[in-house]
Amino acid sequence: MDIKNLESFLKENNQPTFRLKQIQKAVYQDGASAFSEITSLSKDLREKLDQEIEILSFETVQVLQSKDGESIKALLKLNDGNFTETVLIAPKPGTWSACISSQVGCPMGCKFCATGKMGLKRNLTSEEITDQVLFWRQWLRKNSSDLTSKPHPALRATFSLERRRGKLSNIVYMGMGEPFLNWDQVRESLQILTDKNLFGFGSRSISVSTSGIPEGVAKLAEEFPQVNLALSLHFADDKKRSEIMPVNRKNNLESLKKSIQNYFQKTKRKIFLEYIMLDKINDSRQDADNLIKFIRSIGNVHLLHVNLIRHNPTGSEFKASEKNRAQDFKNYLLKNHIGATIRKSAGDEIAGACGQLAGKL
Ligand code: SAH
Ligand code: SF4
Repeated sequence: MDIKNLESFLKENNQPTFRLKQIQKAVYQDGASAFSEITSLSKDLREKLDQEIEILSFETVQVLQSKDGESIKALLKLNDGNFTETVLIAPKPGTWSACISSQVGCPMGCKFCATGKMGLKRNLTSEEITDQVLFWRQWLRKNSSDLTSKPHPALRATFSLERRRGKLSNIVYMGMGEPFLNWDQVRESLQILTDKNLFGFGSRSISVSTSGIPEGVAKLAEEFPQVNLALSLHFADDKKRSEIMPVNRKNNLESLKKSIQNYFQKTKRKIFLEYIMLDKINDSRQDADNLIKFIRSIGNVHLLHVNLIRHNPTGSEFKASEKNRAQDFKNYLLKNHIGATIRKSAGDEIAGACGQLAGKL
C-alpha cells in the first residue's frame, strides 16, 4: 500500500490524526484486504477509501499449493504487466516464512537458477516488495477464518489445524533478484517491515540473501546490523565459482572473505553460508575440504553456519547430489567442527522452491 498516498488522502478528507494509525494497524497487522472490513471506520469513509486507494499494488494471477500443504506460491501481475512471485513456506507447524522477491528477474546469471535465466526486467519498488508480505498476511487471515466458520474443502484436506492457524513469523529475501542491486528500495522495504506502526517485525526475524556483493554486505551491517545475512557461497573454489556464478569474476572468494570479516567486526553476528549441492560438481571430499579451509581462513568459525541445499530442478544441466552424499558432506563438516544443516527443500513440485521462480504459470 502506498502509505504517503493514504496520509494525504486522510488529510484532504479532514480526518483526525489517530485515523492513520488505526488504518495502518488494520491493514499491516490484522491483514484487512479491503477497507470495507475495517468496521471501526464510518461507512462513508470506508467506501471512499475503497474507491481511492489500492491496498495491494498488484493483481493475484494464481496461487498454487504443494500437496503436503507446506508451501504455497503466488504469481502476481504488477501494474506495468510484469510478473513477480512470492512463496509461503511452513518450516514447522504453526509458523510461516514468506519468501519475497526484490527484482523482476535477476541480472546475476547463476547457471543453476531459473530466475537467473530470465535476466533482469526491472527492480521492484519498496511498496511492491512489502506488498508481498501484506498479500500473505491477508491470505493467512482469510484461510484461518475459513477454519472457524466453514473451511474450504481443499484447505481442510491439505492443511493440518496448526498449519492453518499459523502465524507469519519470518521474512526471507530469497525470491527473485539480488537484493543488494536494488538497495535503495530494499532498504526502504526493511524500514517498512520493522516499523512498529506498520508490520512491526523484529529485525532478527528477517533474512537477506545475497550472491556475494561486498558493498551490499557492508551497507546491511551498517544500517541493519540485526537483520540476518545469508551468503550464497555454493563453491569454495574460485575457478568453479566463477564458471557457474559470474559474480565471482568481480567479487572473488578473497573479497568475500574480507567482506565477511568486516561484517563480523561490525555486528558480531552469525552468517549463513548457503551451499547448493550439485551432483559431482561441488559435493566431493575435496570440495568439503576447500570449504573447511575457506571457513577457517575467515576466522570466527562459530559465527559461520553452512546451509546445504539440494539442487532443485530448473531444466538446467545440473542434478542434485544424492541424499547420502549430502549427508556425508554434512557429517564431514560437523566432524571438523563446522555448523551445518541440510535445508529441507520445500515446494519443488509447484516450482516454488529456491531458484525455480521464473514469473511463469
Ligand atoms: N539472489 C539472492 C537471493 C535469491 S536466490 C541469492 O542468490 O542469494 C535464493 C537462494 O536460492 C540462493 O541461495 C540461491 O543460490 C538458491 N538457488 C538458486 N537456484 C537454486 C536451485 N536451482 N536449487 C536450489 N537453490 C537454488
Ligand atoms: Fe540471481 Fe540469486 Fe538466482 Fe543468482 S541465485 S541468478 S543471484 S536470484
